[in-house]
Amino acid sequence: MSEKARVAIVRKAFPLTTEEVEDMVRQAVGLLGGLEGKIKKGGRVVVKPNLFAPYPPPVSVDRRVIAAVVKLAFEAGAGRVTVLEGVSVGTLMKRVNPERSCCGASRGFGTVEVMRMLGVKQAVEEAGGEVLGVEEAEKVMVDIRGGRALHRVAYPKAVLEADYFINLPAMKTHTMTMVTLSVKNLQGLLDEKGRYYAHRDDLDQHMVDISKIRQPDLVVLDGLIAMEGMGAGEGGSPVEMGLVLAGHDQVALDCVASQCMGIDNPLVVGTTRIANHEGLGCGNPFLIEVAGTPVAEAKKKLTLPVNFTQPLESLVTGVYPNIDLYIGGACPTCWLMTAMAEALLSKAPERFTLIVGVDPKVPPGFAPDPARTFFLGECALATGGDLRELRNEMQLKGLDRFLGGCPPYEQALVKLEDALIAMGHLREDDLVKKALEHREKFFDYYRAHDPTWEPQV
Ligand code: SF4
Repeated sequence: MSEKARVAIVRKAFPLTTEEVEDMVRQAVGLLGGLEGKIKKGGRVVVKPNLFAPYPPPVSVDRRVIAAVVKLAFEAGAGRVTVLEGVSVGTLMKRVNPERSCCGASRGFGTVEVMRMLGVKQAVEEAGGEVLGVEEAEKVMVDIRGGRALHRVAYPKAVLEADYFINLPAMKTHTMTMVTLSVKNLQGLLDEKGRYYAHRDDLDQHMVDISKIRQPDLVVLDGLIAMEGMGAGEGGSPVEMGLVLAGHDQVALDCVASQCMGIDNPLVVGTTRIANHEGLGCGNPFLIEVAGTPVAEAKKKLTLPVNFTQPLESLVTGVYPNIDLYIGGACPTCWLMTAMAEALLSKAPERFTLIVGVDPKVPPGFAPDPARTFFLGECALATGGDLRELRNEMQLKGLDRFLGGCPPYEQALVKLEDALIAMGHLREDDLVKKALEHREKFFDYYRAHDPTWEPQV
């Protein structure tokens, strides 16, 4: 009979000092038998944390957890430890960067810039390691054996060549995948193109396919401060959990972590269900041994994103009085992006028309104001009949209201914001102000949990 997958849970109440955080990581890895003898003497270790955006926990993994993992790797004999990450595409392309916004709203942060701002770079270097952004990392084209949605990607050579690979996710809810844990965290290893176009309704399968390239040898999950609600970024809210989890089977770890988040059936999480189905790990809680704190003691009922607790349509159709929405034949991702586009349009004191999906039905003689009409997504841009005539008219008038992409993701929203700025409904100063408000919210929360932290902005 094969051995059960083991997942360790260590729990400790706040406030937590740096030493206590390190001790929690040591205990969690210790409950799996430690790292001694598992890392080749002088070998290279690659650690992949979740550094989603330029905000500290719960948006990004705690630098103290990362530093503790780096220390453990060296103690076990590693000769070189590289902390490698690629921030989210929203961070690379969309988030307003207040430092660069001297005249207008400049957008985007690089990964190493985020690592420096959050104090991750300093903590890793003080522990003897080095940091590397996926943008700068050498990549090789990899064919994914058994890939269903993803077949060939540019992938960091350092991970392929590492003697030991450690996945270091956070514990967060996510509007597209319900939660983001170990399996989803590996998406940050892909280049910008690989990450951007993965965000369709086959995202869960994409995530699972990435794990087919290289599974981690160890997962350490930072659940000190988790995120609930509309994660995994600014829309989410912090929750004190005081947890560190560790495991060698990332599917089992995700299964147990989602139970700790109050999800009673872990197989409702797409990445866990599909990875379990494809034999990449164990997603059955009855076949997993939990060491340390029992799930019942670690668990809190976190609020899931609203699109997982009520029908997505209820957030999209019949909601905003100033928007005439024509949506039909659209994937869930386009429905979600429509909700985001509508939230932006609803703030402007004008009437807008929004067209989404494969051949949405419009009335005969459909003729909305072309200056206030937006097409969202590649499918909408390929429609025929009256909608094509409308698009042609808009083209001739120089009205670029075409929010393309499949999915129409971050860049589509940037384009919509730019259009609203040009129409006088949004000011660049407001975007900078909003970015600073988000920053202060997360900075203040985390400072209260780690008084030794100061952002390097
Ligand atoms: S553009 Fe079309 S295929 Fe792509 S996400 Fe939207 S509805 Fe789906």
